[in-house]
Amino acid sequence: MSLMLNGTGVSRGIAIGRVRLLHEIQPRVVASHIRPGELNQEIKRVTSAMHAVITELRELESKLKNKVPAEIMAFFDSHLLMLEDQTLSQPVIELIRKNQYVSEWALAVHRDNLVAMFANIEDPYLRQRAEDVENVIAKVLHELSGNKQSKAKPDDEYVVVTQNLAPADVIEHQHDGMRGLVCTHGGKMSHAAIVARSLRIPAITGAHPALDLLHEGDEVIVDGATGMVVASPDARSLEHYRRVQRSERKRTRELKALRDKPARTRDNVQIELLANVDTPADATEARRLGAEGIGLFRSEALYLNRDDLPDEREQLGIYRRLLRSMHGRPVTLRTMDIWPGMSHGLPQHLPVPEHPALGLRGIRLCLTHPEIFEPQLRAMLRASTTGPIRILLPMISNVTEVLAARTMIERIRRELIDSKRDVAPDIQVGVLIEVPAAALISRMFVPHVDFLAIGTNDLVQYTLAVDREDDEVQYLYDPLHPAVLQLISDVIATGKRADKPVILCGELASDPRVCRLLLGLGLRHLSVHPSSLLEVKDAILRTDISKIASRARKALGCESRGRMERLLDRLIDHD
Ligand code: PEP
Ligand code: MG
Repeated sequence: MSLMLNGTGVSRGIAIGRVRLLHEIQPRVVASHIRPGELNQEIKRVTSAMHAVITELRELESKLKNKVPAEIMAFFDSHLLMLEDQTLSQPVIELIRKNQYVSEWALAVHRDNLVAMFANIEDPYLRQRAEDVENVIAKVLHELSGNKQSKAKPDDEYVVVTQNLAPADVIEHQHDGMRGLVCTHGGKMSHAAIVARSLRIPAITGAHPALDLLHEGDEVIVDGATGMVVASPDARSLEHYRRVQRSERKRTRELKALRDKPARTRDNVQIELLANVDTPADATEARRLGAEGIGLFRSEALYLNRDDLPDEREQLGIYRRLLRSMHGRPVTLRTMDIWPGMSHGLPQHLPVPEHPALGLRGIRLCLTHPEIFEPQLRAMLRASTTGPIRILLPMISNVTEVLAARTMIERIRRELIDSKRDVAPDIQVGVLIEVPAAALISRMFVPHVDFLAIGTNDLVQYTLAVDREDDEVQYLYDPLHPAVLQLISDVIATGKRADKPVILCGELASDPRVCRLLLGLGLRHLSVHPSSLLEVKDAILRTDISKIASRARKALGCESRGRMERLLDRLIDHD
């Protein structure tokens, strides 16, 4: 008989395969002491296990380099950094030395201490580091037990069912034949989910009873869109899902053919379709998928996982790489949106904000600490000779901030010219509208900027007072809430009146149905994650704006989600 389980779909697609149960991501540890005289041997045992894991990760890293996206490789770096850092090994060695704990016990105690410490941290980014600690220590414990998780026979197509999976293990299992992933724990932003999305592995998290109800070798279907697992499916369900799977594969092939088509609507309106990227490697991927430029480069990645700040030279190198990979197309460089506590390179005396979302971050930090901001601006201005750059200022809430940033940019431009450095004459500067106050006064920015950008990820958070990282209130995080749509529509109208481009670069634009709605509201510049570029282009090519504009305006008056869904469906039906 079939069995159905529900979780959260975190990576779309259908997978069909046999269950592989991975119990005990954290191997069970028995509390025991070493015998007298075994101290040195025990310390050697734990350090050798750590080195073995480092070697294993390094080998995997070099095997996969250039085969998986850069943001995934970043997980390897953070795990390696953690393993090589003395703050991981020293307390473990101390516990062995002072308390005579066996290595396993010492590791488990240190892991629990670290996880408890991270759990008390407000900042969601740092809180996520607890997952890194658990992953890394689990690997060392497996190494110590000599009980590495068993591998599948090559050619097996299987679905991993487990508590949670470390990024490196997701990649390794995919190589070995994993077609789908079901985790009992984690959410949309857990590492396993991020990696699965990036590698297009259908995945579900939060399927709590999966480890108890599914058995090794069971046939299962994983629907990563709906979050459903069907175990021991009957012939009809199997046939149905195979059909869906085939049509999804066909769709992927069709989308590939759109790569070089201009993003023009049926009624001949040209849309600028750009990409949101975090690294130069993402930019290469975006270009490969036909992006017309970069609408958002999140420069934060440069400041993370390190104890110092990137200097002007290092940043210049990265910005130049980005520009070169885009071959003359525009690149929008967002100045850093970081805060003390998020980046360890920031001066230690800066207090960590109690509420980072509302604290000294983004442009606020940059303007109050010009010594941190200036190297970034100098690097951006110097990169302008390699290709067309646009500078984007995040977290703006008033005009004074824009004027101060512009004055600083102009001063640095003059200093560079005085010191015989080349700088392009026409660097565009824009504000990122992500605070409702900025949306409400967008008309006041217009005389001082060359373009406006809308960051819906934060605009939704601040408009609706819903923490974008807090699972408990995700049901309220509604990018189509009438208040959010009204603000977006007002900013688009402001740009139109002033004849200045408005680029929407939050995740909202990635949904093809919503993309149509936004086109109907007058949006002409979109920036989306590279993986959504072709879907969004397809939506643009199928849209006749003249036919949907009045319907799209009705969305501003939809007071319920149900009405909004019906309206979005009708926007698709127009063709
Ligand atoms: C946004 O807030 O929508 C945005 C584009 O920036 P980020 O997601 O990096 O906060
Ligand atoms: Mg933002």
